[in-house]
Amino acid sequence: MVFLSHVCKNRMRPNLDIPARLSVLNQYCFLWLIRIADQKNFQLKSKGDPIMTQVNSDVIIIGAGPSGTSAAALIHQAGFKVAVIEKEEFPRFIIGESLLPRCMDLLEEAGLIDAVKARDYIVKHGAVFLTDDQRTDFEFGNQFTDGWGYTWQVPRDDFDHTLATAVEKMGVDIFWRHTVTDADCRADSATVTATGPDGNPVTFSGRFVLDASGFGRVLPRLMDLDLPSALPRRDSVFTHITGDRRPAGDAAGKIWICMLPENSWLWIIPFSNGKTSVGVVAEPAFIDNLGGSLDDKLSAIIDMSRPAADRLADRKPDFPARRIDGYSIAVKTLCGDGYALTGNATEFLDPVFSSGVTLALESANRAAKTLIRQLKGETVDWDKDYAAYLGHGVEVFRTYVNAWYDGALPTVFFSDKATPDIRSQICSVLAGYVWDMDNPFVAKHEKAVDKLAQLCDMRANK
Ligand SMILES: Cc1cc2nc3c(=O)[nH]c(=O)nc-3n(C[C@H](O)[C@H](O)[C@H](O)COP(=O)(O)OP(=O)(O)OC[C@H]3O[C@@H](n4cnc5c(N)ncnc54)[C@H](O)[C@@H]3O)c2cc1C
Repeated sequence: MVFLSHVCKNRMRPNLDIPARLSVLNQYCFLWLIRIADQKNFQLKSKGDPIMTQVNSDVIIIGAGPSGTSAAALIHQAGFKVAVIEKEEFPRFIIGESLLPRCMDLLEEAGLIDAVKARDYIVKHGAVFLTDDQRTDFEFGNQFTDGWGYTWQVPRDDFDHTLATAVEKMGVDIFWRHTVTDADCRADSATVTATGPDGNPVTFSGRFVLDASGFGRVLPRLMDLDLPSALPRRDSVFTHITGDRRPAGDAAGKIWICMLPENSWLWIIPFSNGKTSVGVVAEPAFIDNLGGSLDDKLSAIIDMSRPAADRLADRKPDFPARRIDGYSIAVKTLCGDGYALTGNATEFLDPVFSSGVTLALESANRAAKTLIRQLKGETVDWDKDYAAYLGHGVEVFRTYVNAWYDGALPTVFFSDKATPDIRSQICSVLAGYVWDMDNPFVAKHEKAVDKLAQLCDMRANK
């Protein structure tokens, strides 16, 4: 019974009483079942108790958004068993619909790009920034870094479902409608508890946990890792509309960022399904001071931007506008014994440069590769190999987000003093290539942006 009690202690704690009620013969049968359970997923039920399911894998991933599924794809293809736990059933709505070209490299590496290509999403060739009387276009085809010249605008219900389906086809188990409620992460093992769709507990055992739970922030909440963001609180109100008068040709798929009073701005993101995503980002008072319902507020805000009002004059909302309050969040650490955070479970800055999904895929890629090395027996330094790498990219975007809101970046964008070379270097940042250290606007991001803004400002004032 040594083996049995050992297994019970570590794997089946809630059912410890079962063997005592069995005959000796049945105890042997039970022992045999436990041996199988140790290799396969297993269900136990004692009279009156809820069914407790035990799932064993090498890696437990919380969340089946782009970060979770792309990490799962890489780890599975490296030969390790992955269990993905997702509280929703897909397709489900989520905001964050404009990709950056860097995503294409990451989807390709995860073996997921063909599944996405097959969805025929509208091609995004670049980004347009507009005021009532100024406009500047960035073409990803004219960028400094040797990277992808385009990407896609994706309705996330369809995109995330496509990725999850592709990953399931590879052989990854996704446990739908399972909500993670607890986790115990240690240097060489991890246990995660979830509530299944029937309300019964499910225990997941593995060697490591990747938390890709997005704004669910499962491990940051359980381990008290959340930090308030240093950025001021900003909220967002958005919907999908029909009746978008899109520009012709390749320009149809570009994202529009329309600048508004009081540092607020509006996005217009067109989809191939005929709908268009429209949303505002602003400090709370800007939204609160407008009267009426959320739909009225969003409509009034659209009409504050001449280019947006013209383009969206025939708009009809597809669903009532929704609001997200104070989306920015920071975190104390990205990794610890037996776990790492990826995607939005790490830090979320701001949606202005559409960096969210790119960082979700990049962090998943880097965490998966670090973890695969560890699972193969290599000694890895998570702080250096993962956190420092990801931190660099986040810092580059932080510089650009800060420079957007303090006015330095709009000065540069709308200045005719930024040379084509400089614009191509900035374009690579807007394309998500924020690890290309040959690009001075990446390597020395803070200084480069600051100097250029001063130069453009001085020349504008001459
Ligand atoms: C207003 C706004 C606009 C944005 N616009 C853009 C944009 O244009 N482009 C862009 O790239 N990004 C954008 N983003 C950011 C983007 O939404 C996120 O960065 C992206 O969704 C992160 O992906 P993820 O895989 O980390 O998390 P998610 O996509 O959020 O996936 C996490 C998954 O975890 C699941 N989960 C949560 N809690 C639990 C639990 N307890 N148990 C089990 N599962 C759980 C959730 O159901 C979810 O499916 C925007 C964000 C905001 C707020």
